[in-house]
Formats: sequence, C-alpha cells, structure tokens
Amino acid sequence: MKVLGIESSCDETGVALVETRAAGVPVLLAQALHTQIVMHQAYGGVVPELASRDHIRRVLPLAEQVLERAGVAKAELDVIAYTRGPGLAGALLVGSGVACALGAALGKPVLGVHHLEGHLLSPFLSADPPEFPFIALLVSGGHTQLMRVDGVGRYELLGETIDDAAGEAFDKSAKLLGLPYPGGPGLSRLAESGDPAAFKLPRPLLHSGDLDFSFAGLKTAVLTQAKKLGDELEARKADLAASTQAAIVDVLVKKSLAALDRSGLRRIVVAGGVGANRLLRSELNAACAKRGVRVHYPELDFCTDNGAMIAMAAAMRLQANVQAATAVYAFDVKPRWPLAEL
Ligand code: ATP
Ligand code: MG
Ligand code: FE
Repeated sequence: MKVLGIESSCDETGVALVETRAAGVPVLLAQALHTQIVMHQAYGGVVPELASRDHIRRVLPLAEQVLERAGVAKAELDVIAYTRGPGLAGALLVGSGVACALGAALGKPVLGVHHLEGHLLSPFLSADPPEFPFIALLVSGGHTQLMRVDGVGRYELLGETIDDAAGEAFDKSAKLLGLPYPGGPGLSRLAESGDPAAFKLPRPLLHSGDLDFSFAGLKTAVLTQAKKLGDELEARKADLAASTQAAIVDVLVKKSLAALDRSGLRRIVVAGGVGANRLLRSELNAACAKRGVRVHYPELDFCTDNGAMIAMAAAMRLQANVQAATAVYAFDVKPRWPLAEL
C-alpha cells in the first residue's frame, strides 16, 4: 500500500511517500521538504498567516517532486495522509484541504495523523528501527513529554512540562543571547566554545519525584544572568549558552533515566527537534550504555518537522489496524489535541 503524507502544522511543508510491506516496517520511497525558517526570521518567530500562505504555494509542487522521485503516478496512491493536529489552525487547514482535495479527485481515502505520533514514530524511518515496548522522550518546539509506548496507538503519558517546552527553552534563551530564530541549533553551536560550568543555572523539578518538567524558570534565570553581565555579556555569551544547554540536557537525561527505572524497560526513543542536540545525544548515550539500555534516534533530518514521519505514522496505523482511511473529505483539523486522547 502506498501512502502519501503531508505535513503543514507549523513552519515546514513536508511531503513523503511510504510503502507498507507484507511484513516489517513500512519503507520510505521519497520525500521533499521546504522550511520557512528564513521567512519567519525577520519577525523573530512564526507568523501564522504567512505560514499558511507559504504552505499553499509549496505543497503541490513538493507532492509532484515526491511522486517523480519515487517514479509513482498519482493514480497508484492508496491513501493520502495529512497532519490533523496539533498545530496552527490555518497551516493545518492547508495540508488537510490539499489531502482531501487529492483524495476526492483521485477517489482515494484520506487519513488524519497526530503530529506528535509522527514525531514519536520517526525513529522507524531509520536503518535500525526500535522494537516495542519503549520509553519515548518527545522533545520538540511545543512539547516535552515522557511516554510509555507499547505499540502503535498505545501511548501512556508518564510526565510532561508544566510550562515551556524544551525547544522553547532553547529558543527563548537563544533570543536573549541575540541569536536568530529558531535558536536551538545556534545556541548549541555557540555552546561548543563555552564552559558549561561557568554559570549556576536552576534544574527545575529535578528532584520533584515525578516525571514532569518545568523550563520557564530557567529562561528567567538566563535573563537575570544576562542583565547582570551587562556589557560583559558579549564576551561571556558562549559560557552562558553552554550553561543553559547543560541545564536543559541535565534535566532531560535524569528524568528519562527515572522513566526507564520506573517502567523497567530497557529501550528509549528520542524524538522531536531537540533530539538533534549533540550534547543530549552524547549524555543520554553515555548514561544508557552504562545501564545496558538501547537508545534510538530519528535521522537528523527527521528530528524536526517533515512529511516522512506523517506518512510513516499513517502507514503504521493502517498496518496495525488501529485506524482506517476514510472517504470523508472533511477539513476536520484539531489545533489542540493531546496525544493521550488518541
Ligand atoms: P511541536 O512538534 O511540539 O508542535 P515543532 O514542530 O515546532 O513543535 P520540532 O520541529 O520538532 O518542533 O522542533 C523544533 C525545535 O527543535 C525548535 O525549538 C528548535 O530550536 C529545536 N532544535 C532543533 N535543533 C536543535 C538542536 N540541535 N539543539 C537544540 N534544539 C534544537
Ligand atoms: Mg519548525
Ligand atoms: Fe513538530
């Protein structure tokens, strides 16, 4: 079965084609992506209306590119999948509108995918896919969650952030340091030449005894520190970046280990944009190697938003019989949609 996936929840337009096989993990045939980052940079963040308009311009040419790369004709598609939510309403409507229009025109069913399930299952696009069950650390621009994953569609939320997401903590701290949006990658590059022990920053909820996170206080601490430095900030920027990154990563790693301990599971999957962070990967790898725990990551290109993860999630849901594609071409997007409701 050939599944076309369309992602348009925020500032990336992604399209991909995945094929299910009689057995095993579905296979990625082709994918294409357009990021709007440069367009939004002038505003310091995503402008929803601009995002929607750009998705409109990009999505069909990207779909054509994908089909051409895969050597597959439109008529050969079996299902058109799209991101149903969560995300920006106008942006989601573009992907769902195009998916439904394609479905109706081709006489093929459609399937709405949960964006976070896409992130969660993105490590299945790698050459060494995980096996169920596992703990998932979902660290993206809008979410920070620890989950127990027993199979496709079987997700138990163990803990989550009570305020800012980890990606948001990276982005907001980076902004305070004068770095362009989205600040995560830039902050982590700057941190490479800094001293992570230079500033003592808080590790909120580290000893809270639960698996929840809080990053809002960290951002305030970075702001306070930056103000204190005044003119000296420029010279100490790398140190402050390194200290900020160390604080975020420290909390993410310790809570992940706690989730592994509590569940007794020996496998963890990291997904979402912050999963691209090098310090997070090296610290988590080291801690897990010591405990004999396997760690899985998506390929670097599939950490942030992309169409491949949406096509993959749809294909896996179809294969596992947890959801059927339908010929209901309604624009039923869900801008707010907790994964636990799935
Ligand atoms: P959500 O999936 O929760 O709706 P999103 O789709 O905006 O949010 P992603 O695309 O998964 O989030 O990830 C983007 C986030 O990842 C941004 O906050 C960005 O700064 C962060 N990020 C990307 N690369 C890195 C990195 N190397 N280090 C730290 N953060 C990073
Ligand atoms: Mg993005
Ligand atoms: Fe995302």
